[in-house]
Amino acid sequence: RDLRTPVIAGNWKMNNDRTAAKALLSDLAPLVKDAACTVITCVPFTDLETALAATAGTDIKVGAQNCHFEKSGAYTGEVSADMLAEMGVEYVVLGHSERRQYFGETDVTVNLRTKAALAAGLKPIVCVGEHLEDREQGVTAELVALQTKIALLDVTAEQLQNVIIAYEPVWAIGTGKTATAEQAGEVCGVIRATVASLYGKEAADKLVVQYGGSMNAGNADELLAQPDVDGGLIGGASLKADAFAQIVAAAS
Ligand code: PEP
Repeated sequence: RDLRTPVIAGNWKMNNDRTAAKALLSDLAPLVKDAACTVITCVPFTDLETALAATAGTDIKVGAQNCHFEKSGAYTGEVSADMLAEMGVEYVVLGHSERRQYFGETDVTVNLRTKAALAAGLKPIVCVGEHLEDREQGVTAELVALQTKIALLDVTAEQLQNVIIAYEPVWAIGTGKTATAEQAGEVCGVIRATVASLYGKEAADKLVVQYGGSMNAGNADELLAQPDVDGGLIGGASLKADAFAQIVAAAS
């Protein structure tokens, strides 16, 4: 754990126009100043420029919520990793369960996007996690290990240093249902063990593995106390400056 700085990332999803983004970030910046963890807000594409300007000189880093795997071309509606990097964006969420559920994202396209993001110099936050049926059938560990392996296909050991993996049980996202600290810790441990089997223990010990799924100020302490939980990916609670700042404080 000493090898890892916790990372708290907000995922705004399709919320906040530029006016709201500016207001939220200016409220948040003083609340997370000098935090002992890395603080990221992942915003809609249309907010990126505003967010980059509003966070300049603060301790908040900016991420996008997706990128395409091709450098350019006939992909209407998509945004490339290079386009984000050129703007000064540092992070990108990939393979979020909402992308998988509503937009046809698969383990294979998550891998392509991960490689494209890394090649562009972005730091991907790669989401994995099981559905409720998977958990009920007892295949969570196997499934999450497989998602992790496919996401990291052809990612080099050097590139791995820029990867964050977020364990997000689908049944806990936006539902108010949180995994117990033990469940979160256990699956984050499976992810680390999977990465150790691919890249060695030393690399795995440095990997940041977040938990995501209805994390809030009330349950953050307990979740973050798990040795393999190095932070959180926060949806709903990232839309309020004070709620998000309390999670940042719990991780610091
Ligand atoms: C998410 O969108 O990644 C997420 C974890 O959402 P929520 O915190 O709202 O469950």
